[in-house]
Amino acid sequence: MGAPDRDPSSARLVVGVDIGNSTTEACLAAVAPDGSVTYLGAGLTRTTGVKGTPDNTAGALRVVRDVLARAGRRPDEVHTVLLNEATPVISGLAMETITETIITESTMIGHNPTTPGGQGLAVGTTVSIADLAGQPPGDPVVCVVPAEWDFDDVARVVNAAVARGVAVVAAVLAGDDAVLVTNRLDRPVPVVDEVRAVEKVPLGMLAAVEVAAPGRTIRTLSDSYGLASVFGLDPEQTRAVSPVARALTGNRSAVVVRTPSGDVTDRRIPVGELVLRGAGKELRIDVDAGAEAIMATIARLQPLDDVHGEPGTHVGGMLAQVRDTMADVLHDADGSAQPPAEIAIRDVLAVDTFVPAEVRGGLAGEIALENAVALAAMVRTSRSRMQLVADQVSEQLGAWAEIGGVEGEMAVGGALTTPGVDRPVAVLDLGGGSTDAALLTRDGVCTAVHVAGAGELVTKLIDSELALGDREVAEGVKWHPLAKVESFFHLRHEDGTVQFFDQPFPPQVFARVVVLTPDGPVPVETRHGLDHVRRVRRAAKSRVFVVNAVRALRQVAPGADLRALDFVVLLGGSALDFEIPELIADELAPYGIVCGTGNVLGTQGPRTAVATGLVRAHAAASSCPAG
Ligand code: ADP
Ligand code: MG
Repeated sequence: MGAPDRDPSSARLVVGVDIGNSTTEACLAAVAPDGSVTYLGAGLTRTTGVKGTPDNTAGALRVVRDVLARAGRRPDEVHTVLLNEATPVISGLAMETITETIITESTMIGHNPTTPGGQGLAVGTTVSIADLAGQPPGDPVVCVVPAEWDFDDVARVVNAAVARGVAVVAAVLAGDDAVLVTNRLDRPVPVVDEVRAVEKVPLGMLAAVEVAAPGRTIRTLSDSYGLASVFGLDPEQTRAVSPVARALTGNRSAVVVRTPSGDVTDRRIPVGELVLRGAGKELRIDVDAGAEAIMATIARLQPLDDVHGEPGTHVGGMLAQVRDTMADVLHDADGSAQPPAEIAIRDVLAVDTFVPAEVRGGLAGEIALENAVALAAMVRTSRSRMQLVADQVSEQLGAWAEIGGVEGEMAVGGALTTPGVDRPVAVLDLGGGSTDAALLTRDGVCTAVHVAGAGELVTKLIDSELALGDREVAEGVKWHPLAKVESFFHLRHEDGTVQFFDQPFPPQVFARVVVLTPDGPVPVETRHGLDHVRRVRRAAKSRVFVVNAVRALRQVAPGADLRALDFVVLLGGSALDFEIPELIADELAPYGIVCGTGNVLGTQGPRTAVATGLVRAHAAASSCPAG
């Protein structure tokens, strides 16, 4: 490699580096003595370690070296590396279910066997197929078939009973043979199969079996009054079985058996109280009161000083765990941890969510959607360790490194390079762990706030609500639009439009809900349809970012009035999202706010605003040292 061209001797090479919770971004520029700036490149890498800790050095060095290499420059040419003074905010997430559905006796089977047989609703007394031969004609019977029975034998025995006048109105099978059985019945009835624990189905009890037509879900057994009508329940009994209806919602087939002592309980788990301190007051709120009540309480205590959970409860555990994690990573310079008690939780975002959980005592792996509350907590520590990172970068790069400015102000500086933006301007930095707002007034006064909850929480909500069990898959669902692969040569996008392809899709995506990544369709492992996945995705984004955008902007807006704002620029990784900017802009439009995605330097999109702001601030300061 030849020696790179040197700048005219007077221009200085400057690198702005923004260390975020998720991403470390850099902006490389040459600054002339008159303060004019020539941008030479930008880059980003994953943040190493927790933001604001010495572990950040590795990522900072990587991105600086990378952006230099791509511009054909050497580290020893660098005049100054500028780091952001990160407000030491760290976010933690915790989620706790607040309801639990338990079946103490076998009273309910509800699931989605891939191929149930027949269709319709039938009510009868449960009788084992082994006893069918001795069953007197007359009353309707639901035939229960253990695993060892062959479908031919099942059909033969049922047909024989029916011929004798026994009214077999439905069947429940352990095996996967519903269609094979139904096809062989003289009189087809609804058949539910794949019931893992069929031996636990109580015999001699009244049971209702419902199978929906293909593409439909059951209607009667998933409705409280439907159950009441089928079993002749009084209002008190109806209340008791309503969790059954809820747990059966959305299924293709279901069986409900009325057992005298049977019990399905919808237990509320005592989660405990949040103890919130701020504005000279202390308030307590039960977590199972839900997100809205929690957020309303928090709004009355601004600014928050600290948050605790009632000791010995779930929420106590949740917050203690957040605090401990943060204490572990916030080591002092001498290596000793900051005591958890010294760590104040300065903001909490509560979000109502639900978690699909296997019903305790279920017979076929039934899933109930349990209510849950997710909390994002943000900690502000007493000290920033960024100077230490600067020292280490300096030493290892062989170039001067210093703290170049405070994050919020720098973000505004970078945002102002977006075409069409002017002061007064507010920025919303939609990051991974926190949502940050900053306001720059016409007179150049800047205020900044950080609120808990951002992209990571969205990913976590998507992951748990869809029971994906895989953060990367959830991240894919968040980033990319959905589609349904309808044939080997065409798919239907989530907006309903159809697209045709020349090459066939790989078989593993056929008839699947997929995310459309740049590398092609990737199947989403979920039992839910496209619309459900889309709804979950959009709700997660809006419950985190729309709520936080309003919360954060209120805190910087003059008189806490959103109407006082003119321009809002969206920054950060989550501003790259294909729908979050729209969701926020829709919410802000009624306040007369111009809201859009930042385009730093007119080319960089919503990222590298802070890094660019650092360079601009440095250039401005060096051209007029007195100012
Ligand atoms: P930080 O400043 O906290 O380091 P970033 O600005 O890097 O955070 O934002 C990180 C968040 O942005 C992550 O939650 C990530 O999922 C999200 N993100 C990044 N790119 C995209 C994209 N193209 N679409 C949606 N979300 C994205
Ligand atoms: Mg950031």
